[in-house]
Amino acid sequence: MAKKQFKAESKRLLEMMINSIYSQKEVFLRELISNASDAIDKIYYKALTDDSLTFEKDSYYIKVAADKDNRTLTITDTGIGMTKEELENNLGVIAKSGSLSFKKENEIKDGHDIIGQFGVGFYAAFMVADVVTVISKALGSDEAYKWESTGADGYTIEQAEKETVGTEITLKIKENTEEEQYDEFLEEYRLKSIIKKYSDFIRYPIKMDVKGQ
Ligand code: ADP
Ligand code: MG
Repeated sequence: MAKKQFKAESKRLLEMMINSIYSQKEVFLRELISNASDAIDKIYYKALTDDSLTFEKDSYYIKVAADKDNRTLTITDTGIGMTKEELENNLGVIAKSGSLSFKKENEIKDGHDIIGQFGVGFYAAFMVADVVTVISKALGSDEAYKWESTGADGYTIEQAEKETVGTEITLKIKENTEEEQYDEFLEEYRLKSIIKKYSDFIRYPIKMDVKGQ
């Protein structure tokens, strides 16, 4: 399957971000949980105006699941999901407008406050993951799609199986190096403390499941 290339600006930004923009790697989880919450909000607002949709609060949640043996961290939501086109358009292009020039103009040295303000949140996942896999089924669609990327060198999209509407994002967590620790992002206590620190205000339940040793 042919790899599609990120648009040039995206590629530069992605490389820069992964290497330097974030001062704390842990914020990747805040970004993914905030996207999951936004996706559930979208179903909620749709239900307000669409009589054929009901919003049963209990069936909407976010789940954070770690599998230590496979080094995967999966963030699942029961939100609105993405079509194939949305996967391409929303995850294939980052920060079209001037994040780079903004950074230059303002000479931001420690750029971690830029995250989230420019729609680059999702890419924070690449700070801790070698591979990011997104499987999504959009509301109203019969088909699900899988988007996968190892970072700046592009992404693939193919049809996939998914029963329910929503999105499942799996991060293949990097191996520890001498300088950087990644194992902690598979530990329950660590994940809980990150969620408490950044995502305490999220209005939907955040479930947790950690397995392996
Ligand atoms: P932002 O949240 O600021 O728009 P992100 O980089 O965090 O920027 O996400 C880019 C876009 O990808 C979102 O605007 C949304 O359209 C889409 N997206 C990301 N995660 C999800 C998700 N879990 N469910 C549905 N759409 C998502
Ligand atoms: Mg976001």
